[in-house]
Amino acid sequence: MDHFLYRDGALHAEDVPVADIAAAVGTPVYIYSTATLERHYRVFDEALAGTEHFIAYAVKANGNLAVLKTLADMGAGMDVVSEGEFRRALAAGVPGNRVVFSGVGKTADELRFALSQNVRQLNVESAEELETLSGVAASMGVTAPIALRVNPDVDAKTHAKIATGKSENKFGIPISRAREVYARAAALPGIEVVGLDVHIGSQLTDLAPFEAAFSKVAELTETLRADGHAIRRLDLGGGLGIPYQHSNEAPPLPFDYGAVIKRTVGHLGCEIEIEPGRLIAGNAGILVTRVIYRKQGEGRVFLVVDAAMNDLIRPAMYEAWHDIAPVIEPAPGAEKAEVDVVGPICETGDTFARGRALPPVGPGELVAFRSAGAYGASMSSEYNGRPLIPEVLVRGDQFAVVRARPSYEEMLARDTIPDWNG
Ligand SMILES: *Cc1c(COP(=O)(O)O)cnc(C)c1O
Repeated sequence: MDHFLYRDGALHAEDVPVADIAAAVGTPVYIYSTATLERHYRVFDEALAGTEHFIAYAVKANGNLAVLKTLADMGAGMDVVSEGEFRRALAAGVPGNRVVFSGVGKTADELRFALSQNVRQLNVESAEELETLSGVAASMGVTAPIALRVNPDVDAKTHAKIATGKSENKFGIPISRAREVYARAAALPGIEVVGLDVHIGSQLTDLAPFEAAFSKVAELTETLRADGHAIRRLDLGGGLGIPYQHSNEAPPLPFDYGAVIKRTVGHLGCEIEIEPGRLIAGNAGILVTRVIYRKQGEGRVFLVVDAAMNDLIRPAMYEAWHDIAPVIEPAPGAEKAEVDVVGPICETGDTFARGRALPPVGPGELVAFRSAGAYGASMSSEYNGRPLIPEVLVRGDQFAVVRARPSYEEMLARDTIPDWNG
């Protein structure tokens, strides 16, 4: 459920007409709903009630400081994958001891930064990273709290580009090598084992792969404890999917996901950490765009809009579906026609939808791509010389621009031309 609904024939973000925001800020624009963010955080919190838990929101889904602050105020910790994201968490008021640092290629400088901020936990993804971390921590005279990310070799049954838990993927330590690497961790200076970590992929629409992975985690935890390691936290990653096609998708509910967690690892007495990103931010955001042309092609109609793949890359990158809603509510029974919804970029991949049945929308009218709050703005670029688009956060009947659209001058001012030729 989200808070983007039609009211009096017009799409609203909570209590604000979407058209008002478009008029004030221009298009394209991302609009986020505070109430939806809060609701999704709460749903996870309730799903794990009765179990000691820590929810580390995955910053990469949507790292806008206003989004992070909203979640931090609810009690969220943060899961980050770079020093830049770590600094975002800090800037939103989340202290280092509430930040989990994940990622397959953390540099020595990033590890040093994390330790200087008293990081809650480093999820180490290789024996090689462990050696580097030990060296960095020892040189600083501190101890690094770590979990090893194991790769459980489980098929997440999601899009290949976001499946991370198969042995052929670059992530984590093969589960067959876990005991050996934990033994090494215990022997190294500057390392304190605090837990075990797993993350098998994103946009999972079935609980079975989670169940399989968490069961392996439970078994490994018992083995590691028998080996003498103090496994007191289990980080189970993120990955719970959301409905992108609202009419015919019903991914598992956080409550049922929580039940799987309790059933598979609940008996171990560990603090449970989860790292949801998409489920918290995805349906809390829409991308609003204006139709530039309704172009008649050979046997096809193209709706050319002012948003493009640089603003929202998911359709081009993952063949992702986004529901498309006209901002003015179509009349009941309005006739639909199939159109291709495309952006202005010089790539055929700049296509948001092919053959989509939409009620009549013409030049100058606004449409919204739903479920665009996660992996939308955070994956955007300035390709084709298009400045990053603004982000707006709504709260009740108020809205605020939480990232302004840069001017063309600002965009150009980042480049410099060397004066080689005098
Ligand atoms: C991307 C990622 C997440 C978040 O995944 P969602 O599908 O957005 O919930 C969590 N943990 C790690 C390590 C990740 O890489």
